[in-house]
Amino acid sequence: MLGLMQNWPLTVDKIMDHAAINHGRREVVTRSVEGPIVRTTYADIHTRAKKVSNALLAEGIKLGDRVATLAWNSGRHMEIWYGAMGLGIVLHTLNPRLFPEQLVYIVNHAEDKIIFTDLTFLPILEALKDKLNPVQRYVVMTDKDHMPACSLKGAIDYESWIDSHGTDVTWGGFDENTAAGLCYTSGTTGNPKGVLYSHRSNVLHTLLTMQKDVMGLGARDVILPVVPMFHANAWGVALSAPAAGAKMVMPGAKMDGASIYELLETEHVTFSAAVPTVWMMLLQHLEATNSKLSTLKKVAIGGSAVPERIMRLFEEKYGVEVLHAWGMTETSPLGTLGSLGPDADTMTHDEKIKTKLKQGRPPFGVEIKILRDGVEAPRDGETFGNLVVRGAAIAAGYFKGEGGNILDKDGFFDTGDVATIDAAGFMQITDRAKDVIKSGGEWISSIDVENVAVGAPGVAVAAVIGKYHPKWDERPLLIIEPAKGASPSKEDILGYLDGKIAKWWMPDDVQFVEAIPLGATGKINKLALRETFANYELPTAKAS
Ligand code: ADP
Repeated sequence: MLGLMQNWPLTVDKIMDHAAINHGRREVVTRSVEGPIVRTTYADIHTRAKKVSNALLAEGIKLGDRVATLAWNSGRHMEIWYGAMGLGIVLHTLNPRLFPEQLVYIVNHAEDKIIFTDLTFLPILEALKDKLNPVQRYVVMTDKDHMPACSLKGAIDYESWIDSHGTDVTWGGFDENTAAGLCYTSGTTGNPKGVLYSHRSNVLHTLLTMQKDVMGLGARDVILPVVPMFHANAWGVALSAPAAGAKMVMPGAKMDGASIYELLETEHVTFSAAVPTVWMMLLQHLEATNSKLSTLKKVAIGGSAVPERIMRLFEEKYGVEVLHAWGMTETSPLGTLGSLGPDADTMTHDEKIKTKLKQGRPPFGVEIKILRDGVEAPRDGETFGNLVVRGAAIAAGYFKGEGGNILDKDGFFDTGDVATIDAAGFMQITDRAKDVIKSGGEWISSIDVENVAVGAPGVAVAAVIGKYHPKWDERPLLIIEPAKGASPSKEDILGYLDGKIAKWWMPDDVQFVEAIPLGATGKINKLALRETFANYELPTAKAS
């Protein structure tokens, strides 16, 4: 017997309709690429998004076609986002930090018909334009007065492009499983792969993020997503903020400590979300200028593990709650959050910090488990294995079938992360599966060794990779980028590690480099490091 409730397809146009009707005067404030702070509202974004829809139709773009943005977080980016998705056109967010050849690959693979670009990225596109075959037109996200001379095909400024179009257009009305957005993983192994979000998965992920122990945004919140919309929908904020009626503050191209601080204070931001490196810059600015945070209550930090120093400074010195989040492009992206449970009432402050440094628990809507040789590992906080995940907003496959079948027989996706889960359900990442060092059948966590090594005096960045060893299969090699002006020795570093990590985890050697390479999302690029050290042989390997 079927239920007798209404069929209300879960499509994202309903989010912007809701925001315009119920929170129409709520502001979206942008530090524009042109310079000034620009203020708009959900009602205006709704109106202008409808003009975008009509302009797209006039270009011959239809349901299922892909259009791309190469853009910072901004009010205009929101208009394009909803204007495209409302018609079932797939909005593909391009990550400008990708290598040029990856951008070329992605645009061709996605068959993007239009690229909307911020002024910032014109030089990149001008250099690549002859290789971006499917693109029929470039729309530059500015107005006529700021439009530079430009050799891109059909180039037109955004304001002129939407100007002549009306607002009469119908959104939605298609299957809720229709594709809504496309976001490529940065491709640390092989070519980038496209994660194709559906309307339904985006709406369910939005509801999931609105749970109190997830982001829990409300109509009185002012959210500053530093995390870009090209990074898994700004961790869903591009959808959850209008759904909640929260005011949005968009940082545009400026993410340095002083610029973010200015917006936090002048716009009375209550909540913000970013990767650890951004918070490091803000905290350095606060320390250097002896400034306070007067309205900020909470920060979500993810993308890589939150260093304890950042957690403690926010919570202990600035009175800001830290919400540690784990996820990936494939998980829409929120997978687990470090919100504490009822047992926090009996925890000491240090115990709370220790728990919050773990990657956290899945909200309702996400299932996780740890597999060791295909068998579920105990939830004892110690046994580590492959982290697998299942849920309504988790990828079932990549665009155009790249990578083949990515689900196991029970429908779980292997995240490529290695983790533990404790008795309370808190997950802790110990490594990436491809980075874990397999020494004599046991696993060494490269991240754990790096986290300790980075605390050694004179160390700026530390990275650990596994190198061949005839007896143990692999042993750890520690690579150090010294801090400016410092020149620590191998003995200094090993002396510092001694006693802080298990004896058999001690690196077999330490090598020094001028700079440790970072990938497109600011994480250590181990692939590049492995290439650099491809011909390197461990002294212990030679000896045995
Ligand atoms: P890519 O996989 O291409 O680097 P993503 O942005 O999807 O791009 O990165 C997801 C990965 O980032 C996760 O699988 C995990 O390894 C890492 N990650 C994300 N959040 C955290 C976190 N809080 N702590 C540790 N690692 C994290």
